[in-house]
Amino acid sequence: MSKILLPNTKLFINNEWVESISGKKFKTFNPVNEELICEVSEGDKADVDIAVKAARNALENGEWGKMTSEDRGRIILKFANLIEKHKDNLAILETLDNGKPLTASKGYDITQSEKTLRYFGGWADKIQGKTIPISNEYTSMTRHEPIGVVALIVAWNYPCMLLCWKLGPALAAGCTIVAKPSEFTPLTALYLCDLIKEAGFPPGVFNLVNGFGSTVGNALSHHMDIDKISFTGSTITGRLIMEGAAKSNLKPVTLELGGKSPNIFFNDCDVNHIAKCAKDYVFSNSMQSCCAPTRFFVQENIYEAFLQIFTEKIKQLKVGDPYDNDTHLGPLVSKQQHDRVLGYIEKGKSEGATCHLGGGNYHHADGKGYFVQPTIFTNVTDNMTICKEEIFGPVVVILPFKTVDEVIKRANDSTYGLAAGIWTKDISLALNVSNKLKSGSVWINEYYSIMPSIPFGGYKQSGIGRDLSEYAIQSYLSIKAVTISHKTLYAQQN
Ligand code: NDP
Repeated sequence: MSKILLPNTKLFINNEWVESISGKKFKTFNPVNEELICEVSEGDKADVDIAVKAARNALENGEWGKMTSEDRGRIILKFANLIEKHKDNLAILETLDNGKPLTASKGYDITQSEKTLRYFGGWADKIQGKTIPISNEYTSMTRHEPIGVVALIVAWNYPCMLLCWKLGPALAAGCTIVAKPSEFTPLTALYLCDLIKEAGFPPGVFNLVNGFGSTVGNALSHHMDIDKISFTGSTITGRLIMEGAAKSNLKPVTLELGGKSPNIFFNDCDVNHIAKCAKDYVFSNSMQSCCAPTRFFVQENIYEAFLQIFTEKIKQLKVGDPYDNDTHLGPLVSKQQHDRVLGYIEKGKSEGATCHLGGGNYHHADGKGYFVQPTIFTNVTDNMTICKEEIFGPVVVILPFKTVDEVIKRANDSTYGLAAGIWTKDISLALNVSNKLKSGSVWINEYYSIMPSIPFGGYKQSGIGRDLSEYAIQSYLSIKAVTISHKTLYAQQN
């Protein structure tokens, strides 16, 4: 592993590193060995106010608001190039702070961050309004204007990537930004700040205030001078953010929240897929993913074979040092998350489910670190806690089913609706089932097909609005209708 280059750990406002007003700091820890990585400046409401003023000024009086959309796109693309150039260090930092395997940090998180910015950089000069035909007496058109100053609050599971998912459309639309990373994983967001400055974004376009949800996050959601808020995290916090928006200036919200996603295997599916999915993706990021496939529905004829192949493959997954190229699962992000997941495992056992594989701590080298074994539950009923609630750790439940109608009903029996997988050779069956699933994403004969050009977001309590794609840009725009009457002129001339 190359040498780790830590970022500056202050607040980033107006393209400058500044101490928080209180001078307070919080600590960020390495989840592999529980050791301190560094201390980070802790912002508060007063720092948020300064950052919002900087963002407002950059929008209304600065160079950014006057810039052509082509130039805006060029700077976003330069930012993407810089992420590519710094990929190795960004990936090492992500693994250090979050614990995910380095192969995933580099091959997925940072690569997706770069690709997302590249995609939205290309959009900057293609955002345009419409002309609306009314009659010869009117000309009406829409202008798509940046919505204004936006707050971006992201979680710790994909710290760099989630921020870039929101930064891309916000910047392409011409907004200015105040961002808050999770206090558990601030390092890659901090590292991006210097790249933002180097790419040529004028001062105040991007500002970052580290700190806690209850202080910085709360100040952002209640702020009277923030025009929009985009959040990724838990449904509970999503509600608080919406409440803050409602109690302040009614700012629109985009919420990307939790999930309890079904993954449906029909009798005719290719069994090789079972083995492949078990190895390649089911436990990726230790299932700390909002759209993780947590409820496996397996049709009765293949249930026994499925369970056998799947279990054998999961047994081969390597848990351990995230810097080792062969590792599939690193530690969970924090002690809090580790204890919460183990709590769910105990709940599953006490409610009568069978713990078929795993089900406890994974003891790494010196007994340190927040590791949990990949865990499979069988004999689960749909109303058990482990089948209803988002666990956000390496735990799947395997549920047999008989008929198509039955599985649709059971898959939809959730307060969430983020993603779903369907596995079958019968494309007509797949499409019919897909039409009936109440889910923001449906993946057929694959899972996690997430790409910058495809919208991502939830039905029901999985969220409001969409990240990624052209749809995401729309939520960072205000639509102004300009209507010109030439009735009088027309009448006079005729
Ligand atoms: P949170 O939803 O609390 O955290 C996500 C982000 O929101 C963090 O930056 C956090 O700040 C911030 N935040 C917290 N409280 C507020 C608030 N009142 N106002 C504004 N922002 C706030 O998730 P947790 O870290 O607590 O994780 C708990 C559970 O949530 C997980 O076990 C998992 O089930 C779920 N989760 C789901 C995610 C998803 O992608 N769907 C992502 C992360 C978690 P900070 O942490 O710095 O205090």
